Amino acid sequence: TYVVTDACIRCKYMDCVEVCPVDCFYEGENMLVINPNECIDCGVCEPECPAEAILPDTESGLEQWLELNTNFSAQWPNV
Ligand code: SF4
Repeated sequence: TYVVTDACIRCKYMDCVEVCPVDCFYEGENMLVINPNECIDCGVCEPECPAEAILPDTESGLEQWLELNTNFSAQWPNV
């Protein structure tokens, strides 16, 4: 799965939302998150983010962001 990280906070360009084929972005007040259970790992959102906030969870050190994306995507509205 891909995860949204801290570069998204107070940014929210939303370009990623436009390209995601499975609509798995969820919106909080200050940032977006990806639902890891819905993400199909296509990767098209990554280059669309001007803040480079979206990363594959295979990168090291993203465990906490994966957890945050999982938890908040269950609570926030789909976009
Ligand atoms: Fe959506 Fe693909 Fe990005 Fe996953 S990797 S959030 S499916 S655009």
